[in-house]
Formats: sequence, C-alpha cells, structure tokens
Amino acid sequence: MNDTRLIDPFKRQIDYLRVSVTDRCDLRCVYCMAEDMTFLPKSDVLSLEELDRICSIFVSLGVKKLRLTGGEPLVRKNIMWLINRLSRHLRTGDLEELTLTSNGTQLEKYAQDLARAGIKRINVSLDTLDALKFSKITRWGNLDQVLNGLAAAKNAGLKVKINTVALKGVNDDELDSLLIWCGEKGFDITFIEVMPMGEIGEERIDQYLPLSMVRAKLAENWTLKNTNYRTGGPARYFDVVETGQRLGFITPLTHNFCEMCNRVRLTCTGTLFMCLGQEDAADLRVHIRNSDDDETLIEAIKEAISRKPKGHDFIINRTNNQPSVSRHMSVTGG
Ligand code: SAM
Ligand code: SF4
Repeated sequence: MNDTRLIDPFKRQIDYLRVSVTDRCDLRCVYCMAEDMTFLPKSDVLSLEELDRICSIFVSLGVKKLRLTGGEPLVRKNIMWLINRLSRHLRTGDLEELTLTSNGTQLEKYAQDLARAGIKRINVSLDTLDALKFSKITRWGNLDQVLNGLAAAKNAGLKVKINTVALKGVNDDELDSLLIWCGEKGFDITFIEVMPMGEIGEERIDQYLPLSMVRAKLAENWTLKNTNYRTGGPARYFDVVETGQRLGFITPLTHNFCEMCNRVRLTCTGTLFMCLGQEDAADLRVHIRNSDDDETLIEAIKEAISRKPKGHDFIINRTNNQPSVSRHMSVTGG
C-alpha cells in the first residue's frame, strides 16, 4: 500500500484539493460578499510559485483532483502561468483532473487557453438569465459578458456545469427556465442552498430556500431519474429525462453530505481548512516561507489531516440567523 496517501481519522482518503487562488472578485454577489469587502494585502497572499509548490506537494500525496476557485480565479494576475504549470501533473497522470469554478466574466478571454492547458470541464456560477436580476444579485455584473464567456467555453470544447444558488423570492420562479436553457446549451446544472458563511449585510433567513422544496416542485414538471453519477463532490444528481442533461442538488442544510468527504480547502494565504463548515485550520504558509524543505510542509499537511472533523454544523433558522463560520465563501472558495 502507498503510505504517502492522506487518510483522515474517519478512514476517508483525501484526494481532492480546492484552492482559492485569490480573495478578490470583479463581482459582489449578495449571498457571498458584502458590498464594501476589504481584501487582503498582497504580501499575505501566496505567490503563484508558492501555490504551485504546495499544490504539487498535495499531488505527490495522492491528490487526484485540483479545483481552482476564489474569489474569482480568472482575475488573479498571470493565472494562466499557474494553470500551465499545474498541467504538467495531468501529463504525467499523477493528477486526474484540473478544473476551476468561475463566475464566467473572463471566460471569453481565457476559454481557449484553459482548453489548451488540459482543462476539460469547468463550473460556472449563474443564478439568473434576467439581465436586471443578474446585475442586482451580483451588485454590478453584466449578464451578456457571462453569456459570451459561456459561448466561448463551449466553442473551446469545455464541458460546462452551471452552479445556481437558489434564492427565495429572487430566482425561485426561474428554476424551470434555467433547466430548459441548460438543456438547450448542453450544460449540466446544480442548485445550491445558501450556506451561512460570513457577514454579508443581509439576513440569511431571507435568502434561504430549502432544496427539498425545490426538488418536489421541479418533480411536478420534470421526470427526474435517480442516477449513481458522482463527481466525488457533495451533489446528488438526477437525469432530467426531458432535457437529457444532469441536475444536481447541493444540500448542506437539509441533507448532510459529510460521510463521503474526500476534500480539503486551501485559502490564498496558505491556510488549510479541513472542513468548509468548521473554523479549525492549519497555517501552511509559515512552513512554505520558512523553509525550502518539502518534508516540513508534508508533516504539517499530515498533521492537519489527522484533525479533519467528522462533519459540519451548518444551521439556519429563526433563532440562529448568524453565520456558522465567520469567513466568507470567497475565502475558502466554496
Ligand atoms: N467566483 C467564482 C464563482 O462565483 O463561481 C468562484 C468562487 S464562489 C465563492 C464559488 C461558489 O460558491 C459559487 O457557485 C457561489 O455561487 C457559491 N457561493 C458563494 N457564497 C455562497 C453561500 N453563502 N452559500 C452557498 N453558495 C455560495
Ligand atoms: Fe465573486 Fe463568486 Fe463570490 Fe460572486 S460568488 S462574489 S462571483 S466570488
């Protein structure tokens, strides 16, 4: 047996690393960020070389899937340098998948480069097809820019999955039309429940729409066929018979997804979170910056994995309307 693998106390193998490459973003989605977010000073953020080093160490420890996220990964300066560097692990076969989650605003510029670097599929967040609503949800985004980005991704041969946060009173009337639109475009789609992360200057209870209700409503109009399809992620998938596309639900609040958890998250400052919904973390930056010796870093990673908790404690209800964790999703990257 390969003893370099990362195995946590509950015998889960950690083979998926999500990396937030920047906390910055060109949008300010209402459920994700406050309008007046303060971003980190550049000196706190890992350089692209440091990110390459730490990601490569994780690959040597058995990580098979790397997802770059943020903030918005494609607004990080020279991001293609990092993606091209990391793609060497795809060529050796050590890494099975390199992918990213993006808001799509920069895809027109980058889609071809991403495909050339060996990226096969990407997740793009889009909560509405209504231009006015889009600019309200994102506080100032331009829907056409994202739609053009999606068209560019499709032309470049990238497989696209749309991520849609289900928001009560905002896009709950649009979920059917999003399903139809994804069917036409050949995109899969996943609906996500709002998670209570970080102060955003809005009431979570006002945004929260349980996906159990969404699913029951959709099932009135669509034939949702159970499937065993898994991406190693928390989504439960169905085949939508009428569109031929997949529909996923990420339900951290109405359904706990922790028992199969295979992932950890690295922030752009080199902090490793073993669980999206817990505060416990390990500072890897100190090891990256203090020593060129990878062994110290490897030990720190293994020690952190030995503390991975069994699960999260997210809860939103009328008596608990506070963030379960104080950091924003843009810090750990979702
Ligand atoms: N900027 C990129 C994007 O929007 O796809 C990547 C980072 S974003 C933080 C990753 C995902 O987290 C997006 O799909 C976004 O909709 C989702 N997200 C952000 N805040 C959330 C929250 N409080 N609850 C649930 N999902 C959230
Ligand atoms: Fe930016 Fe993504 Fe957060 Fe929206 S969800 S503010 S696009 S990081």
